[in-house]
Amino acid sequence: MSVTMPRKPTQDPARPIAIYDLDLPALEDLLKAWGEPSYRAPQIWEWLYVHLVDAFSQMTNLPKSLRRRLSEEATIDLLEVVDTTRSPDGRTRKDLLQLTDGETIEAVLMRYRTRRTACLSTQVGCALGCPFCATGQMGFRRDLTSGEIVAQAVHFARPLQAEGNPLTNVVLMGMGEPLANYDESMAAIRRLNHPDGFRMGQRHITLSTVGLVPMIGRLAQEDLQITLAISLHAATDDLRNQLVPINRRYGLEALFKACAAYFEKTGRRISFEWALIEGLNDTPEQAHALADWVHGSLPGTLVHVNLIPLNPSLEYARGPAASDAVDAFTAILEARSIPYTIRVRRGASIQAGCGQLRQRRQP
Ligand code: SAH
Ligand code: SF4
Repeated sequence: MSVTMPRKPTQDPARPIAIYDLDLPALEDLLKAWGEPSYRAPQIWEWLYVHLVDAFSQMTNLPKSLRRRLSEEATIDLLEVVDTTRSPDGRTRKDLLQLTDGETIEAVLMRYRTRRTACLSTQVGCALGCPFCATGQMGFRRDLTSGEIVAQAVHFARPLQAEGNPLTNVVLMGMGEPLANYDESMAAIRRLNHPDGFRMGQRHITLSTVGLVPMIGRLAQEDLQITLAISLHAATDDLRNQLVPINRRYGLEALFKACAAYFEKTGRRISFEWALIEGLNDTPEQAHALADWVHGSLPGTLVHVNLIPLNPSLEYARGPAASDAVDAFTAILEARSIPYTIRVRRGASIQAGCGQLRQRRQP
């Protein structure tokens, strides 16, 4: 696994202010420093997050002089589309997006009957090295800023808005580990949720983590009603140490304790993600071990298990569980009253499925 040190994004030196990186007080401070009244800040936010404009010149209720200064010193767009891939049914779209320092990330839009969900990246690559995950295979490049995370949602919301459909859900389940980029991920969530910002309900936002136990504790204190998804994938430490190497530091006991505490504090149902890998974690023993943990460590906690047939990635030899193994696995969960869903594979054909995101153009 190649790991490089994080680098600060190099922004256009002539226009150093990335407007989507600013929370409301920071924008007010900037305007104050420019001698502008503070009420301009929510006006600007409305253009950015409600009207989703892509140029300061469109902010028509601002004085011309302010529009000009913003255009000269600040940028709206942090992402440039390098490549777009659509699934054959047209309901999933994956975009390769270039950041201002030339790094690239991927983000995915999934359309369902009543929902439109954007899957956002929080880092360029990931340092945690889960062997079955394409992002893990590429190593860590750098953290994204909150603005770069928010801008991905805005990027998908713009064309949707033009069709008259809002973006309804956001999942931090793209490239990277959101809790390893904690402050920027939190700032992005708060901006997406802000009543003067993007106005997305907290319950429509999901954060997926590999299980950084101390950070789950911190998240519980944030007073957020977001959905927490834990990438579990195995219910014995032996197997999880292999599949999710960070388990060697934060083992299952500590992880389930953190989940219990999270539920106690927030009352929010916890999702467990489980990529079913043939001959590895698709066994009756693993299904029973999962049920044992849930009943033993999370009594009375609302949980839900999302089973995802493994999406293939180039550098991982194993394949998805066979259907009879899936049936046997789910029969045990059912018998032991563990709620589960077998996730529909969205985007697998265009390498936009879970764990298939990496910096690469399609051939
Ligand atoms: N780092 C975070 C969020 C990004 S990964 C995390 O690990 O939770 C998004 C989800 O895709 C995680 O649940 C991850 O375990 C899963 N995933 C990774 N590779 C996969 C693969 N090849 N097939 C199916 N799911 C995979
Ligand atoms: Fe990182 Fe999540 Fe992939 Fe593991 S599954 S390597 S934590 S992105």
